[in-house]
Amino acid sequence: MDVKQPQPPPFTVKIRRTTSSDGSGSGSIILGKYQLVRLLGRGSFAKVYLGRCLDDNTEVAVKVIDKSSTAIDASMEPRIIREVSAMRRLNHHPNILELFEVMATKTKIYFVMELAHGGELFTKLNRRGRFSESTARFYFHHLVSALHFCHQNGVAHRDIKPQNLLLDKEGHLKISDFGLSALPEQLQNGLLYTACGTPAYTAPEVVYRRGYDGAKADAWSCGVILFVFLAGSLPFDDSNLPNMVKAIHRREYKFPDWVSKSAQRIINRLLDPNPETRYGIVELMNTPWFKKSSSMKPEQSTKRFGEGILEKESKQMESINAFDLILMCSGLDLSSIFEEELNKKEMRFTTNVEVKVIEEKVMNVGINAGYRVEKRKNGGIGLVKGRSVLLVEILELAKELLLVEFKVVNGGSEFEDRQWEELKAGLKEVVVSW
Ligand code: ADP
Ligand code: MG
Repeated sequence: MDVKQPQPPPFTVKIRRTTSSDGSGSGSIILGKYQLVRLLGRGSFAKVYLGRCLDDNTEVAVKVIDKSSTAIDASMEPRIIREVSAMRRLNHHPNILELFEVMATKTKIYFVMELAHGGELFTKLNRRGRFSESTARFYFHHLVSALHFCHQNGVAHRDIKPQNLLLDKEGHLKISDFGLSALPEQLQNGLLYTACGTPAYTAPEVVYRRGYDGAKADAWSCGVILFVFLAGSLPFDDSNLPNMVKAIHRREYKFPDWVSKSAQRIINRLLDPNPETRYGIVELMNTPWFKKSSSMKPEQSTKRFGEGILEKESKQMESINAFDLILMCSGLDLSSIFEEELNKKEMRFTTNVEVKVIEEKVMNVGINAGYRVEKRKNGGIGLVKGRSVLLVEILELAKELLLVEFKVVNGGSEFEDRQWEELKAGLKEVVVSW
């Protein structure tokens, strides 16, 4: 595909500090310049309104961030600066929402942006169930072209997910919300260290809060998006994070039979849990499936502005936003989530020792606590005492990071907290986090 690389014009975004009225909500006029017409959508930190410019009557989207709102703490400030910096660098790619102006009052920050008349792409997907291969390719071309442009400008998006894929009047895809994108100045040794994103769409190396390459993480999200386009469902269910992590590493996702082999091959290469062997955006662009031109014509949007956004399934929205909050406020602490999900019959921990070392350790601790040790044929270690049987599984999450899981598979009623404590005490020195 021919990817246009338009040169951004000179910077036009200005931060205006002003003391004038800063009311917001439908009907109000902000800063004597824009009238807020009605609410289009909500993000985790912002409300987005349809706005009208009083000067020339043009329509815009105004994202209002209330600095005093409870969801906002000191950690917001860098996020806002990132959003401005990233968007200003990337203005003027046809598939990236343009930022016109940024204004700030004492209590609020306003982003005046290009209006995406067509609302969220996923409203359309929800209505249709799934996309045909040519429709999927049409939107995927836009997404990948925009990401390629971002990466060439040293910016990874890092939060590619349904809410951030919008449609313009002509039915072209526009990426929004660069709030989580990282700039080159923030790279440490070329790797990003902030956990961010939305679990179902987030690359595993990002979830573990290990250093990662933002462009490869975006490639992972492209794999999830393409899967969702074609299959009409998520490859990994994120309602239980530990199970999702396991499914990702075991590559346990299933294509419906209508997904073509060539599309499956691309998705398989993008959903590679190892970022080093995973396809990058350029490799993806060189595949025959991607290069095939899209025969689909974009549909003119016939809906009223923002209509689709309001129809969105609120359940999905809430769960995504709850995760956004966790991620933004405290980073994603995998261990505390594991703890919550567990019942008394399971325990898990992560470790950074080698597989052989942890196997030895588990067997020794088991023997010392009076268990008989069995190596299972299909992997895993069995610990047997009386009627109690524990199964220990070791899963490689990433280089030098293993997940070790103990499960009571038999005789659970005889199994007591005291026995867990005994095992835990023996394993203490190899544990990174419980
Ligand atoms: P947050 O950064 O708080 O997550 P977003 O920028 O993602 O907020 O915006 C929240 C929602 O508002 C989006 O999911 C989308 O539905 C709607 N929205 C955002 N920007 C626009 C726009 N330019 N045009 C139309 N709708 C928009
Ligand atoms: Mg958002």
